[in-house]
Amino acid sequence: MLSVTGKSLVGYSNVDSGNLFFYAINPSTNQALETRFVQATPDEVVFACQFAKQAAPHFGIALSKRVILLNRIADLIEQHAAQLIHFFCLESGLPQTRAEVELKRSCVQFRSYAAALKSGYALQVVIDEADANRLPTPKPDLRKMNVPLGPVVIFGASNFPFAYSTLGGDVASALAAGCPVIVKAHPMHPHTSELSAQIIAMALKELQFEEGVFSHLLATDYHVGEQLVLADAVKAVGFTGSIAGGTALVKLAQGRKEPIPVFAEMGSVNPMVFTNAALEENHKQIAQLVADSIALNAGQFCTSPGLLFVIKSEYTDLFKQQLTKLLSEKEPQSMLHPGIFLNYEKRVLEQFSESEVLVDGTRRENHIQPSLAKVSATEFIANPPLQEEVFGSFALIVECENKTELLNALETIDGQLTGSLFLGSNESEQEVIQLLQSKVGRVILNGVPTGVEVSVAQNHGGPYPSSSRLETTAVGADAIKRFMRPVTFQNCPDDLLPEALKNSNPLCILRFVNGNYTY
Ligand code: NAP
Repeated sequence: MLSVTGKSLVGYSNVDSGNLFFYAINPSTNQALETRFVQATPDEVVFACQFAKQAAPHFGIALSKRVILLNRIADLIEQHAAQLIHFFCLESGLPQTRAEVELKRSCVQFRSYAAALKSGYALQVVIDEADANRLPTPKPDLRKMNVPLGPVVIFGASNFPFAYSTLGGDVASALAAGCPVIVKAHPMHPHTSELSAQIIAMALKELQFEEGVFSHLLATDYHVGEQLVLADAVKAVGFTGSIAGGTALVKLAQGRKEPIPVFAEMGSVNPMVFTNAALEENHKQIAQLVADSIALNAGQFCTSPGLLFVIKSEYTDLFKQQLTKLLSEKEPQSMLHPGIFLNYEKRVLEQFSESEVLVDGTRRENHIQPSLAKVSATEFIANPPLQEEVFGSFALIVECENKTELLNALETIDGQLTGSLFLGSNESEQEVIQLLQSKVGRVILNGVPTGVEVSVAQNHGGPYPSSSRLETTAVGADAIKRFMRPVTFQNCPDDLLPEALKNSNPLCILRFVNGNYTY
């Protein structure tokens, strides 16, 4: 049985020498919970960074042992599921079913990233052998592979207490890459985060990893996060949250003597386009899918649908009526935190002041029902703030006169994580698909954006501001590559090469040798 202490973890030691305290809130009741959490001190941040730097060289080369570590963490998560889920629900207000799904997702992430490491997928080994007889100059032996960046700081996300926090995809991918990790826990779910940290530390101790591979720092203000991003030992940052938060951290990291990458996954309004043929064939089923997606867990997802593009017609009217009806019938749900609730309330009222209100859901004491509004495409194009994210169940219908106006309206939107298109049976709409592809990281046909499959083929990212690094994904095994960089060894004797590059391929990994994939 694990127990919550309210302390940070630096290496394998619990620390609490600070004098800044905070409490988590049960958002369903708006009551503070009992445990007093202590913010990490500047000295504790320094120790965590020093430990991480010391641990980096050994951890970086312990490839096979890291595979065992990632799988062991997944096993321990399952063993302690009941306790983790209890605190997850208590301090997030999210239902048990969601906690169960998210816990499973965390396990899948750890296990699938272990598999990507074991198979060699994450290492991307390329070998181009020497040719001493090449004219006019001999060709050297070149062998390239990905190596870890060094210590990484991960900011826990408020809206995914498991899957994007201490047991989340960023931590799993950084550990898989071979980077020591320092987590800046999100203050909205410190119990869940602390227990999660204990699980990772337990797995590391069992496998006798050096102290410093992992630290977990509690904080309730920006100082700890800022100090971590500026620390010399830190070589990259992973973040999920607001555009303001992500952009501030990118700026901080760019201002360092040695600028470092910040992989920030930020806001997205996930445009959805519905053709009249699709609505003619299926307006009721489509409205049901969209209403459920908007309402899911009070809309607190980066993939929640925020903008619905339609072209005026009788079928569009039927769709609007049906969506209005379904959203009005949704039960109120708790939001993650009073702060997130207040921000939601403010943003909905701002959107309402510029649009026609179709559903004005209740907003009381952290609990909300979905809201829906409508604008014309002309108003949408003329008023850019209308496309800014409302974090929570809210969608804006953008009604276009014709296809040209639809394309013009889509052209004005910023970078997004996803874009959806609902088509009739015999339609293709290549122009819309092309336009969506230029704006988003994932194009979805006849489906909703919520539900991000963990898969090697997944891309969870997109052009700014949905992500600070449009060439990367935060979900799927390619997420590991964010925390690695390529190194080439030239004319290196076999006995001095890393195992992954040796002639005999002792790790039995897939490699690209002289232009062919081979084991
Ligand atoms: P946030 O304000 O972006 O904060 C996320 C984390 O980053 C927190 O741990 C916060 O630290 C830290 N942080 C933020 N700005 C910082 C800065 N300038 N310097 C150093 N650290 C900084 O997000 P949030 O707390 O999760 O929720 C607030 C709002 O973000 C929500 O209302 C919502 O609009 C948006 N959000 C969007 C998504 C999405 O996926 N699109 C997800 C979550 C939240 P402290 O907690 O210590 O202050």
